[in-house]
Amino acid sequence: MDKILCSVIVPMYNEEAVIIETHRRLTQVMSSIGEGYEIIFINDGSRDNTRAIINDLCNKDTNIKMIDFARNFGHQIAITAGMDYAAGECMVIIDGDLQDPPELIPDMIKKWREGYDVVYGKRKSRQGETAFKKFTAKAYYRILRSLTNVEIPVDTGDFRLIDRKVCEALKQLPERSRYVRGLMSWVGFKQIAIEFERNERFAGETKYPLKKMIKLAMDGIMSFSYKPLKLASYIGAILSGISFIYLIAVLIQKLFFPETSQSGWTSLIAVSLFFNGIILLMLGIIGEYIGRIYDEAKGRPLYIINELRNMEERQGPRYSIKQNTNPD
Ligand code: UDP
Ligand code: MG
Repeated sequence: MDKILCSVIVPMYNEEAVIIETHRRLTQVMSSIGEGYEIIFINDGSRDNTRAIINDLCNKDTNIKMIDFARNFGHQIAITAGMDYAAGECMVIIDGDLQDPPELIPDMIKKWREGYDVVYGKRKSRQGETAFKKFTAKAYYRILRSLTNVEIPVDTGDFRLIDRKVCEALKQLPERSRYVRGLMSWVGFKQIAIEFERNERFAGETKYPLKKMIKLAMDGIMSFSYKPLKLASYIGAILSGISFIYLIAVLIQKLFFPETSQSGWTSLIAVSLFFNGIILLMLGIIGEYIGRIYDEAKGRPLYIINELRNMEERQGPRYSIKQNTNPD
């Protein structure tokens, strides 16, 4: 088998409308480089024809490989599986919907050859996305930056090239709530950005509904910062201070000016609601962290594979069993 210079990792979830075009453009770009390559499609438990289409491509071309998940494990896990199985000296992570232009890959490889270990795509602009998404994304990356000590670059997604050694370093991080772009900054190495225009989705619609986006955003913050926990103690301290002062004021009023003190049901209810709200919010934050600790403690594998195409099974804690290799 040829030596593989570059593995392209493409997560796919219900992407039947784009696969053929994605495959065409990726193959065009990769074969123009003139070195060994592989394109790993991860079928993340799609409910449409995604699996059959990728299977077909695998039959025709051995550069195309498939990791077929047993169910939908999520985008970040799919990328992780791709990195676990990639054989290249470097690998490119790219969205399957052609929002990240494959034509940027040769430039990334050029930078990599100049000695950079991580070459990430920085979005100069985003097309075809709602003002709401643009605004929340922009705000989020800035909040994340201010909350963490890790240098997570703003306005970057998962579109990037990484060197094999970065991948090996990432494999040593066992955590379950994976925020891959954060983990990559955490491991360090020599990084550089390339700017690009983020295109519109080629076809289909986003596979990141608000719920998944919120989960990703929370994973990003919670895996890299415990400042939200500190917030609980800060707010707690400030509010107890204020309450204490108020208590003294009320006592003084009661003792020395009994005629002006009122029975005040409204103010009581307001104070009680306010404090209960704050307490529940803080409990929620603590709960988020405990939930994550629980997930880690269970120690389940990150993903379960149903089938691999055009590649070998691997052994190790993160690689799981597949039973059938027969193409259908
Ligand atoms: N994706 C996935 N599993 C999921 C959700 C998304 O593998 O549970 C893939 C999806 O197929 C696409 C990439 O992740 O290749 C990015 O998703 P999408 O384009 O829907 O996100 P957006 O660009 O709208 O943020
Ligand atoms: Mg997209």
